[in-house]
Amino acid sequence: MLFEIFSVHHGCLSSAWHQPPPMSQTSLDDSSFKEHGFKVTVRSGGHDFEGLSYISNVPFVLIDLANLRKINVDIEDNTAWVQAGATLGELYYRIAEKSPVHGFPAGACPTVAVGGHISGGGFGAMVRKYGVAADYVLDARLVNANGEVLNRETMGRDLFWAIRGGGVASFGVLLAWKIKLVYVPPVVTISLVTRTLEQGATELVHKWQSVASRKVPRELAINLHIGVVDKNHSAAKGGLLGRTIQATFQFFFLGPAEKLVQVMQNEFPELGVKKQDCIEDSWVKSHINFLGFPVGTPVDILLNRTSFPKATFKAKSDFVNKPIPKIGLEGIWNMLLKEERPELIIATWGGKVKHISEHKIAFPHRGRNMYLIGYVSNWDEKNEFTTSERHISWIRELYDYMTPYVSKSPRTAFLNYRDLDLGKITINNTMASPDFHSQLLTRLHVVFFSPDDKATSKALSPRVRSVNPYKSNERDLLDERHQTKKLL
Ligand SMILES: Cc1cc2nc3c(=O)[nH]c(=O)nc-3n(C[C@H](O)[C@H](O)[C@H](O)COP(=O)(O)OP(=O)(O)OC[C@H]3O[C@@H](n4cnc5c(N)ncnc54)[C@H](O)[C@@H]3O)c2cc1C
Repeated sequence: MLFEIFSVHHGCLSSAWHQPPPMSQTSLDDSSFKEHGFKVTVRSGGHDFEGLSYISNVPFVLIDLANLRKINVDIEDNTAWVQAGATLGELYYRIAEKSPVHGFPAGACPTVAVGGHISGGGFGAMVRKYGVAADYVLDARLVNANGEVLNRETMGRDLFWAIRGGGVASFGVLLAWKIKLVYVPPVVTISLVTRTLEQGATELVHKWQSVASRKVPRELAINLHIGVVDKNHSAAKGGLLGRTIQATFQFFFLGPAEKLVQVMQNEFPELGVKKQDCIEDSWVKSHINFLGFPVGTPVDILLNRTSFPKATFKAKSDFVNKPIPKIGLEGIWNMLLKEERPELIIATWGGKVKHISEHKIAFPHRGRNMYLIGYVSNWDEKNEFTTSERHISWIRELYDYMTPYVSKSPRTAFLNYRDLDLGKITINNTMASPDFHSQLLTRLHVVFFSPDDKATSKALSPRVRSVNPYKSNERDLLDERHQTKKLL
C-alpha cells in the first residue's frame, strides 16, 4: 500500500490566521492527488473510532493537522479561534488561562481534537446546560476541493449548516473554528457513587433514567458508566465467573456541593450523595477530576497529547427516548456478563440540547432523547483476528438486543461514535432506511444541489429529490400522538 503523510505546520498559515489565509498559502488543492489516484484523508486528533482518518484500503495521502493548533482566546468578546489540530485539553487550558468563569461545552477526553469533534456535534458534561459544541460555532475556515479557503459567508448557508454536526470530512479540510465561549461558575462540583447489582444497581439505574434527564436542573449532569467487576469489586480481569455489574453515577454540577446534595436529596435520595463525597473546584480542574485524574493533578496535564493509553475496541451507539423497563435492564446485564471487558458509557440528555431546533445545525439528536448510550467492547491488541471477530459479534448481538428499547424510525446513532456497521447506505424511493446516516445523507445532498437552483435541481435524479428527511420525523410524532390517544 502506498502511504505518505503530509504534515501542516504552524508556519504554513499567516500569523493573522484569524483572517482567511490567502489561497496560495494553504496548497491543499488535491487535484494532483486525484491525478495519481490517491484518496485524501484528513486527521486532526486521530480519535476516529474506526480509524477513518488514517486507514484506507486504497493508496492514500494523509493530511495530518496535529501541528495546526493555535488557539486565540478573546475574553472581551467571549469568543476564540481554534485551529483544527488543537485538542480539547489545549482549548480548555487556554480558556482557563484567561478566565475562571469562561468555558466551552465540548467533550471530556482532552486528547480529542476540535477538527473531528466539533464537526460531529461534540458533547460533554455541559450538554444539558448549553447543548453541543457545534451549537457554539460562529465561523469556520475550510479549504474546499479547489483549494479555495472559505469562511462562513463564502461557503454559504447550507455548507455552514452541514459542517456543524454532519462531519466535515466529506466537504473539505477544516482549518479552524471560531467558537463562542460560555459562562461557568467559579465553583463546580463533581462526585461519584458506585453500586453493584447486589447493592441495588438495577433499581437505581431504572430510576436514574427519568430523574437525570427530566427532573434535575440543567446545571447538573449525572452520567453513568456501567461495567463488569469481580464480586469483590475490583475491575474484572480473569474468567467470566464470579462477576457482577457495577454502575458508576458520575456527577458534574455547575455550582457548589451543598446545592448538589440538596437537589439529590429531593430528587434521588436513594443514591445517598453526601457533601463529604463531593469535590469542589474550578471548572477546568473539575474537568480533570471528572476524567479520573487524582485531585491535585496539575492543569498542564491537559496539554499532554498522549495522556490516554491506546486501546483496541469496537463501539456502537444509540439514543434512548423512553425508560427501559427493569426486565430490559436485566437482559442487558446478562449480555454484559457474557463479555470480557464490556462498557456502557451513558450520557444524560435533556435541558438546553432538547430545546434547540433539530434543523438548526446538522445535529438532529434533540427533543425526546433522554440519554445516549455508547456500547464498547475492549480487548488486547495482541489478540488474533478471530478474537476481534468474537468481540465484534458480541457487540452486534447486544445492539440487536437493544432494538425494542431505543429510538426508532429512524434508529439514530451518534456520528462522533463512528460505526461502520451503519455505513452501508442505499437510498431508496422512500425513507425506509433505518439509520441516522441515511437521513443525514439525504439532507446533505441539499448542500450540493440546492433546490432553489433550478439547474442543479434538474441534475438531481428524481430518486433523490423525492426523499424528504423531515417527513419521517413528522410521521413519528403523529404515530406517537396516535399511540398516546389510544392509551387515553
Ligand atoms: C477516548 C475518546 C473519548 C471521546 N469522548 C467524546 C466525548 O466526550 N464527546 C464526543 O462528542 N465525542 C467523543 N469522542 C469521539 C470524538 O469526538 C470523535 O472521534 C471525533 O471525530 C474525534 O476527532 P479527532 O479530530 O480527534 O479525530 P480524527 O480521527 O482526526 O478525525 C475524525 C474524522 O473527522 C475527519 N477530520 C478530522 N479533522 C478534519 C479536518 N480538519 N478537516 C476535515 N476532516 C477532518 C477525519 O478524516 C475523520 O473522518 C471520543 C473519542 C475517544 C477516542
